[in-house]
Amino acid sequence: MPARAHAAIITVGTELVTGQRLDTNGAEIAAALLASNLDVIEMLSVADDVDRLATHLARLTAECAVVVVTGGLGPTHDDITREAASRALKRPLVRDDEIVRSLSGIVARHKEPDAAEHILTQADVIDGATVIMPTTGTAPGQVVPTPGGVLVLLPGPPSEMRPMLTSFLGTAHRARPPVRLRSTGITESDAQIAAQRVLSDAPGVGLTVLAAPADVEVVLFDEGAGPFELERLGALIRAELGDVCYSADGSSLGETVLALARERHARLACAESCTGGKIAAALTDVPGASDVFEGGVVSYSNELKSGVLDVPAGLLAQFGAVSEQAALAMASGVAALTHAEFAVATTGIAGPGGGTADKPVGLVWFGLQTPSGTSAVRREFFGDRAGVRTRATMFALDLLRRALLEF
Ligand code: ATP
Repeated sequence: MPARAHAAIITVGTELVTGQRLDTNGAEIAAALLASNLDVIEMLSVADDVDRLATHLARLTAECAVVVVTGGLGPTHDDITREAASRALKRPLVRDDEIVRSLSGIVARHKEPDAAEHILTQADVIDGATVIMPTTGTAPGQVVPTPGGVLVLLPGPPSEMRPMLTSFLGTAHRARPPVRLRSTGITESDAQIAAQRVLSDAPGVGLTVLAAPADVEVVLFDEGAGPFELERLGALIRAELGDVCYSADGSSLGETVLALARERHARLACAESCTGGKIAAALTDVPGASDVFEGGVVSYSNELKSGVLDVPAGLLAQFGAVSEQAALAMASGVAALTHAEFAVATTGIAGPGGGTADKPVGLVWFGLQTPSGTSAVRREFFGDRAGVRTRATMFALDLLRRALLEF
């Protein structure tokens, strides 16, 4: 039964280990390797220290089929990745003529005589490596054969790293993507137990459960079962999860809602108070959202709720802004304003202050307008301000999803 190939990630840079720069590359690369069915067993950040990096590289390239390194490929003295990789793999650096030519324009722009030699260190390639030419920036990437697989060297700036990673994973490593079942409104443990029930006598399938606030993902890896069996088990787990499962291919809730609206030729809108634009952001994060998403209003003050959404001032005075009546009026107000058939509204107390016995921190009222009428739902979420806002955003999107499924 073949296990999934092991992978490791090293992010290089003193700025990463001193807290001056957040390592976002590590998380992005890990997600991309996971999506390519690789088993990431280690991820570490190393300062600009050639000996230390060479030691880690020697160890990890011996243990893993794929090792990805980002950073330290530029032209300055602290860019030590090429040198460290060369030492770890005991392969010399050779200057690549094509890269030298591609750097000639940059070399010509420098006044210092030594600058040319600095720039041209970027043309030093580990003997036997395949070069990935940059589409943005100047530092080329390298894919170097190792005794057990490959070592991939990528530049540090995320905008330069990303296209090279895609190019490497798209060509060099054509692994089958795992099944990714995403759910909202279920706990991590319940999702795991549901999946394990189905997998109890199904060998050859790896299982991981990933949880974010109001978003639980069950990931199935092919560890010998084969693609048809993986799909079949994925469908069984989906049935076991029930209607909390909103996607089977890893799509986000925003993508799912937009796809459902597109199928039904329905338009969407939102009116947001406590979520402050996060519903609109989740929808507009998806390219092409404009064909079904009309827009949203962040109506934080009572004046805006009344002035833009036509929520009667008397209603706000009588019941308060966080109330069933306000949520209903906000949903119908934004639907009238935008002519959308489906509209959702949020009004709540995200905290940490502002809660009362009647209206505690975490209370959110949701309004929903659909072609069959207007309704409201009350929920109390746990967590800090960020957690309440994220959970409320997911809940609002899920209300839209469930309403769309009925049409
Ligand atoms: P350059 O040619 O720009 O020198 P490089 O490959 O040498 O490329 P670094 O010098 O290590 O890359 O990093 C350049 C910049 O890229 C850093 O200042 C930082 O802004 C960003 N960067 C590097 N590594 C990471 C990372 N792991 N996560 C997020 N950003 C990073």
